Amino acid sequence: MRVYFTAIGKSILAKAFQAVKGMNDCLPSDSPLWQYLEQTLRQVVASYGYSEIRMPVLESTQLFCRSIGEVTDIVEKEMYTFVDRGEDSLTLRPEGTASCVRAGIEHGLLYNQQQRLWYMGPMFRRERPQKGRYRQFYQFGAETFGLQGPDIDAELIALSARLWQELGFADQVELQLNSLGSNQARESYKQILVDYFQQNIDQLDEDSQRRLGSNPLRILDSKNPAMVELIAGAPKLQQHLDQESKDHFEQLCAKLDSLGISYVVNPTLVRGLDYYNRTVFEWVTSSLGAQGTICAGGRYDGLVEQLGGQSTPACGFAMGLERIVLMLEQVDNIQTKLSPQVDVYVCMLGELAEKEGFIFSEDLRSKLPEVRIQNHCGGGNFKKQLKRADKSGAQIALILGENEIKESKVALKFLRENKEQLLLSHEDLIATLNKVLSKYG
Ligand code: ATP
Ligand code: MG
Repeated sequence: MRVYFTAIGKSILAKAFQAVKGMNDCLPSDSPLWQYLEQTLRQVVASYGYSEIRMPVLESTQLFCRSIGEVTDIVEKEMYTFVDRGEDSLTLRPEGTASCVRAGIEHGLLYNQQQRLWYMGPMFRRERPQKGRYRQFYQFGAETFGLQGPDIDAELIALSARLWQELGFADQVELQLNSLGSNQARESYKQILVDYFQQNIDQLDEDSQRRLGSNPLRILDSKNPAMVELIAGAPKLQQHLDQESKDHFEQLCAKLDSLGISYVVNPTLVRGLDYYNRTVFEWVTSSLGAQGTICAGGRYDGLVEQLGGQSTPACGFAMGLERIVLMLEQVDNIQTKLSPQVDVYVCMLGELAEKEGFIFSEDLRSKLPEVRIQNHCGGGNFKKQLKRADKSGAQIALILGENEIKESKVALKFLRENKEQLLLSHEDLIATLNKVLSKYG
């Protein structure tokens, strides 16, 4: 779109501003769904006794390099990094776990303690934007510290499973599980994997050839369809697990069985970040096309120590909220679960009503704080005001005219039901609104 301005008698061409590529506005028509999701998330984590933590969106660049790993998609090519006026190198957080660990160490929340935390907020990755993949996106995450599992691993999975249940798409997601074993077991497996890929080097794509020397496990995570067969034939990590990790995994599976949570063991699931060990999991769906992972997590027992804290076991997950919103849009009758922005629209006809009407609706808000009341502003005739009332989405219009004001009454019109208009005293109005609106939750 182009906009023409005339400046100092000369016409110049100015391009209308647009949002930065891959960064979305959440418009008023979208926000009820987001609010519903956020409210459900808060309610579910609260029911497990988790506490909220809020971290800054900027951190020192080194925090992410050291935690996520130098040879990962995120650190190699997706971070928004800049030098802060010639001083420090800062990065817009691409994920929440590193920040959460940093905050935990900095404020002494982790040493010798148990923590169950959650966060929600924007993350930033310079990826190619497509459906379900953006440059600013929102994550909800849960992180637990000081608990060795596998009970806490199961709790985190149960919490996420409950969420899908609450949101109404549990039947469309599948839980995939794997164990990466101890760091030691992973090192010896790496060598076995390198040998296998070396023997098939001509079949590796460019990225994977590069990773062969630096991070061979990540080759298993490749999204390149041409490599599916080669990856499927690779030696399996599970056959090289240490005994403790094997036990941990078995106990986790047993716990999930006892909770009735079904899962698929996926031996090639390794996750794209370096800090994981033992349990890793992803919730995937086939309803979203290529961006099928809606939630991912696992254990990261070494990360706290790696970032300068005392050795602390840890486990967590993060989910991409845009992908969950896409799932929600496909849920039947989802609209009926969303809160309207306006319940009651107040029409004011004539000067006296305009003057008294604002006092009336302030009083109404004090008496009914849960009810969303919108005043008509800008005058106009009855027809115009009713049209606005209808557009607001309200169930009810309250009409104040000169007569109503003089008699201390108010007319109540049902906007969505074929019912007779009522003329009520102010006391009766409160009771009637309480009754009528409780029906709409
Ligand atoms: P993917 O394989 O889709 O790139 P990832 O392994 O990079 O995901 P994580 O870092 O584990 O993702 O982040 C957890 C979740 O955050 C993902 O499962 C996904 O739901 C969401 N997510 C990750 N990157 C994006 C993005 N660029 N836009 C929207 N959501 C994202
Ligand atoms: Mg990614």
